[in-house]
Amino acid sequence: MTRRPASHQLLRSRRWQPAACWLDLLAWKVGTILIVEDCSATRYSLNTLTALSVADAEMTPMPISFANLARRFDRRRLAPGARRGLNPPLLLLLLMIGTGSTLAQAQSPARTRIRPEDAAWIDGVLQAWALSQQEILNIASKDDRVEFVFFDSECVYRGTSSVAPHCERHADTVRMPDGKNIPAQVTSFAAPFDDNKRVFMAMALPEIWRQGGVQSELGLETLMSAVFIHEMAHTRQFRMFLPMIERVASRFDVGDKINDDIVQERFSDDARFVASIDRERDLLFASASSSNTAEARNRARQALAMINDRRARFYIGEHEALRELEDIFITLEGVAQWTSLQWLMHPRGVRLDRQAALAGLRRDGRKWSQDEGLAMFLVIDRLVPDWKERVFGDHPPTALQLLAEATR
Ligand SMILES: [Zn+2]
Repeated sequence: MTRRPASHQLLRSRRWQPAACWLDLLAWKVGTILIVEDCSATRYSLNTLTALSVADAEMTPMPISFANLARRFDRRRLAPGARRGLNPPLLLLLLMIGTGSTLAQAQSPARTRIRPEDAAWIDGVLQAWALSQQEILNIASKDDRVEFVFFDSECVYRGTSSVAPHCERHADTVRMPDGKNIPAQVTSFAAPFDDNKRVFMAMALPEIWRQGGVQSELGLETLMSAVFIHEMAHTRQFRMFLPMIERVASRFDVGDKINDDIVQERFSDDARFVASIDRERDLLFASASSSNTAEARNRARQALAMINDRRARFYIGEHEALRELEDIFITLEGVAQWTSLQWLMHPRGVRLDRQAALAGLRRDGRKWSQDEGLAMFLVIDRLVPDWKERVFGDHPPTALQLLAEATR
């Protein structure tokens, strides 16, 4: 085992001490994250928005595998002469004011095409979504065109049925089909554009997620694929559900913070509300895995009674709009999570057993709408056989309507 040089302690104790070792400090910038490597080739990530210099930076060794980072690092490493000419604080300062990445890039030819491993990953997720549409949701059709925007730390790749391999360079922000610009950071989302007539799907490639420190027991690429399927399921729901959201927004003064976390954002500090959510969700998961139909139905009935009771008590006055919004977002999130779960378990997906797939996908149930929605659609899938064609039809039932059917 190699002995750690003293510079590691210096980093961890947040003190800046010029040390010979640091003359070899190398750095590059990805969005607001600065990746630095010390002389023993240990890499650290540092958020340049929150840290002003090495001296007050909380620099933690990056907790991830570096196979891909290492390749990238080699391409971007500063020439030895350039390194010796800059002391580390100066180098860091240069990176923070935005010239650093240019400095680093100047040393290697600009990439013109997508990396083979990223092209393969995109291929894989497009196939995974095709499988999900055809064999899991049974909703394959010709009108499912989506504009894709994938990006890594240097390039954007766009397309519809396939994604063009040529690099469209970006300067840390990426232009979306709706005209907005987003930072080139960890993200994945689907959104409508062109007056809700078309849909796009934007996603950072694995390199950015890895550098952002995202980890999963599923493995990062598998987690990302599940996230991709989740978002793609939304692309098939927008046509029906966006007008429903807009109708609620026009009737109530909800403000502009309408999103799938709206209930959680308002009530996560209310112990009685949280206790109800926890119990409802546990009952729903228990219903889904009950040993017989009568027991499944009975537990679903108990969960529905609790849900209705909570809604009657809390969704009054200024929270009245949540009666509809909660149901809409649970439908959106529940269907999307359910689809990802089925792909994780599918014989031609990841072939995980149910327990592993659930554990990897739920991620501690940190998002209420996703977790309760997933539990609800597991129950619905068990007790309402024709729910899929209806929920993707022109006049879809909501999660609560379907759950009520499941209890009959
Ligand atoms: Zn979602």
